[in-house]
Amino acid sequence: MSNARPKLSQVPQELMLINGQWVKSADERVLPVENPAQRGHVIAEVPRAGAKDVETAVKGAAKAFEGWKHVPARDRGRVLLAIAEDVEAQVEELAKTVVTETGNAIRPLSRPEAKMTADLFRYFGGVAGELKGETVPFGDNQFCYTRLEPLGVVGAITPWNSPLGTAAVKVASALAAGNTIVLKPSSSAPLGVLKLARICDKRLPPGVLNVLSGNADECGVPLAQHPLVRKLTFTGSLEGGKSVMRAAADRIVPSTMELGGKSPQIIFPDADEEGFADGVMTATRITRQGQGCSSGSRIFIHESIFDSFLDKLVKKFKGLVIGDPMDERTDIGTIINRGQYEKVCDYIKDGMSQKGARVLIGGLPPTEGPLAQGYYAVPTIFANVSPDWRIAREEIFGPVFVALPWRDENEVIRMANDSLYGLAGYVWTRDIERGLRTAHTLESGFVQINQGGGPGVAHSYGGYKMSGIGREWSVEGMISSFTQKKVVVINLKSR
Ligand code: NAP
Repeated sequence: MSNARPKLSQVPQELMLINGQWVKSADERVLPVENPAQRGHVIAEVPRAGAKDVETAVKGAAKAFEGWKHVPARDRGRVLLAIAEDVEAQVEELAKTVVTETGNAIRPLSRPEAKMTADLFRYFGGVAGELKGETVPFGDNQFCYTRLEPLGVVGAITPWNSPLGTAAVKVASALAAGNTIVLKPSSSAPLGVLKLARICDKRLPPGVLNVLSGNADECGVPLAQHPLVRKLTFTGSLEGGKSVMRAAADRIVPSTMELGGKSPQIIFPDADEEGFADGVMTATRITRQGQGCSSGSRIFIHESIFDSFLDKLVKKFKGLVIGDPMDERTDIGTIINRGQYEKVCDYIKDGMSQKGARVLIGGLPPTEGPLAQGYYAVPTIFANVSPDWRIAREEIFGPVFVALPWRDENEVIRMANDSLYGLAGYVWTRDIERGLRTAHTLESGFVQINQGGGPGVAHSYGGYKMSGIGREWSVEGMISSFTQKKVVVINLKSR
């Protein structure tokens, strides 16, 4: 870990993509991008997009829509398949870029994410031809059919925790359906997405994909409010989502929301404790530093195995390597930035200040030694937690988890569902009947039994309750999020 800090003038200057051109922002202002593994080390500067840039990009996308919507769906699919191949060839470069801007470890996280990015383009390229309509039986004298038509310019806003994956799912599915897109990635992690845009740009007509590197207030808000944007898709926090939905409501524009979570894991007393501890750990998204929307951060363990299961879980956590995210041996990298790091520390302090709280592992991050050079937090599990504490109710988006004992199945379902969120859920039991009964009762959009992986390509991923509205990761998601249905009726007796 080097502390050498280049002067800003030596820092690479990136450009953004508007209407087929790689440009600075209209006012030539820039935003620094930092490497969170080396606090404050600026690794690049990107254009600081503002309302003028939004205007140019949206107008360019609206013009490009007039051509792209007429390209046959399977030909659009072919373009996406070619992009998938190009992404595949640059997986390593994309992964390394994401490591340096997010602190996400390369082996468990950034490389698999770059590979999944290629898979997303491949999947939506393949299913583009599935934009089929129906015929409606109105009788012999009328022929009635439906068409799935694109919506127009999509305004897409994405977060930093999985920057390539969240951008790719929106870009690939919106374009497959015949829309054009203006994408605003997180200003904390725009570099990987700009690299992805360079790959896409070589294959797409000008204006079909535009990527603006700005922040929420100066770029995200004007994009959400732009009158020519006909669809909004947002992945991020609950508060950001509410603001974008208000902008959508003002213009009666459809919106898809992929928001936060505080997902439950329910461990039954018949659990294979040793085997399930690995899966429970995976489901916490600890190798993402807990910065995963589907993190199973509330761990409900049956009282009869509460202590023995936690012993095993803590041992598993202790075996993980925290450190330089570029090192292949590393399991856990850094928190994204200072603001998020301080937020995580505040939650840990809040938990520790509660009467009776027990910290089984972790606590506040080290203030000395190699880990203090970056925004490293350590895996932290609280036991003896009351379900009404903030650490048990609010999304922390860090490596901080709560363990709660339970006795009765109905009681644990009630506690698990007692959340404003409903994104994911995990059930751990060897009894399949009980597993399915529990999965069907959880108020969550994505439930897994006896496994803890993340959402995959072709899952219709999305949330219940305040975790979001709409689905995007599947062919059904592409159709529901990025098309509108037109009914056409022909009177066969009119001549
Ligand atoms: P965030 O602060 O809401 O930001 C997400 C994106 O929205 C960023 O590009 C941000 O811009 C922009 N933004 C924020 N407020 C906005 C507004 N009022 N108008 C327009 N744009 C706005 O979220 P984050 O901290 O990046 O990401 C973490 C959150 O994302 C967590 O809550 C997590 O659960 C959620 N998430 C959900 C999913 C899912 O699929 N459900 C997946 C991943 C993450 P700047 O940050 O650049 O200023």
